[in-house]
Amino acid sequence: MSIQSLLDRFCLSHSLHFRSFWVNLVCAFYFAIVLNLGLWRYIFTRMDFDWGINAYIVCITVPLFLFLLFFLILCLINVPYVGKIVVIPILLVSSVANYAMFDLGITIDAEMIQNVLETTSREAMELVTFKAIAWIVITGIIPAYLLCITRIDYLPRRQEIIHRAIVFAGALILIAVTVFAGVKQYYFFRHANRALSTLVNPFNIFRAAQRNFRNQSLAEHDFVRLDPDAKRIGPVRDKPSVFILMVGETARADHWSLNGYGKDTNADLKKEDVISFKNVYSCATSTTISLPCMFSHKARKDFSTKEARYTENLVDLLKQTGYDVIWLENDEGSKGVANRITEVRLDLSKNKRYCANESCFDEILLDGLDERLSNIKQDTVIVLHTMGSHGPAYYLRYPDAQRKFKPTCDSSDVHGCDPEGLVNAYDNTIHYTSFVIARTIDALKKVPHLNPGLIYVSDHGESLGEDGVFLHGYNYSIAPDGQKHVPFILWMSDGMKKEGGYNYSCLAKKADADEFSHDNLFHTVLGMMGVGTKIYDKSLDMFDSCRAGASAAEATAK
Ligand SMILES: [Zn+2]
Repeated sequence: MSIQSLLDRFCLSHSLHFRSFWVNLVCAFYFAIVLNLGLWRYIFTRMDFDWGINAYIVCITVPLFLFLLFFLILCLINVPYVGKIVVIPILLVSSVANYAMFDLGITIDAEMIQNVLETTSREAMELVTFKAIAWIVITGIIPAYLLCITRIDYLPRRQEIIHRAIVFAGALILIAVTVFAGVKQYYFFRHANRALSTLVNPFNIFRAAQRNFRNQSLAEHDFVRLDPDAKRIGPVRDKPSVFILMVGETARADHWSLNGYGKDTNADLKKEDVISFKNVYSCATSTTISLPCMFSHKARKDFSTKEARYTENLVDLLKQTGYDVIWLENDEGSKGVANRITEVRLDLSKNKRYCANESCFDEILLDGLDERLSNIKQDTVIVLHTMGSHGPAYYLRYPDAQRKFKPTCDSSDVHGCDPEGLVNAYDNTIHYTSFVIARTIDALKKVPHLNPGLIYVSDHGESLGEDGVFLHGYNYSIAPDGQKHVPFILWMSDGMKKEGGYNYSCLAKKADADEFSHDNLFHTVLGMMGVGTKIYDKSLDMFDSCRAGASAAEATAK
């Protein structure tokens, strides 16, 4: 007995019957609208209707697109003997997921799939409430039963194929029109609301399952130690050293007045004894790739994000060699870099002074820093992952007091902004970043019991409308310079200069003349921190030739 005939028997008699076209249409509507209530609530509650016509375009085109997409998929899979067998289980699972997202606020991601797989029956039973049962019966079981008892009438095979092909083509044209009408607005809304893609039911379930599978296979991959024999070398230090690595976000080098930009964007930083390396290029044009790449021993041309997931990185080596390493996070996570060290995600709900609109000004990274520094008793590395100039809502990245360049475009619709207002808003983010770096240096100056130093480097740059290009994330080979040319700032206390034997004027000359990239960061920090390891490459250490004598790391490398 076939599955179809079992299904037919279970569904008693075909008391309802409709043409396949209407079944597909109703099912598409049901999947797109009813089974995505969590998605629609997310969009409507987060939409800023002051955005005008753009807001309405998103609110109309996204549901329309999803409806048409489901319709296209159903046209392909809803064929005799297959359609119900595929659609009914997906409908039931989607109903459960819709309830979990809408009522319980659960996000469907790889971790959630893992949780489900590991849930005990007791935990599962605690989730079974009257409300949950009612929801799933009404939105899942009843519609599934109705579909089950519906006899789907198909035309004779040849006619059905022709009819479907025409309908399919029509839907495809409508999708193209919808995308054309709303893609720009959708892209900007999506940029500011990253959770969006985890809410599209049931695609989120398939995506999360696929990611969970990938994570499992990665977890089974042998973890790669970089150098189990790496150790601290060099002279015994009279004071603990503290090194702050500030990872910038979306800052482009040519908007820094220290690099010759016409507007005074580095008013605070220029008062400090810093060196700006003027020709530094990023590993990639997005955080997802750049961030792990910056901390990887691999150069850009050999780097792979997949490999980075099961390979140690710079912070692991620093921890292994005795540094207390801590990662303070104010951006979108460490992308796995800080998996094996202490990562502190700043809790925006607890800090009303710096946080609003689901993000925090970077000054939150300085909150409690004085106290943290004064308590340091051993060599320490602190990574500050900043929010920086994260777009497209540049105007939300700095407090009002730092709004130096005016007028600003106070909107996420960068296409709609006038170019001057957009650049002013962006330049204010740089001015503010410069202020935060200067305040961090000031904090480091107040700890005489330590030898402090700081490097600031951005993960990638940004396009601000040159040749019609905005934001970042372009393919590296064709990305404009603005997305790849990043600021790199060095500050060293006299203690750190003396201890490392650094010639600051030599470094300043190198900063103006030489070209570097994220490939240099790993080896430069190892050199500064006196980590002796076989993977240290002296030729990639930016500061090596400005050190008196051979560096500690180099001595081991020989
Ligand atoms: Zn980034």
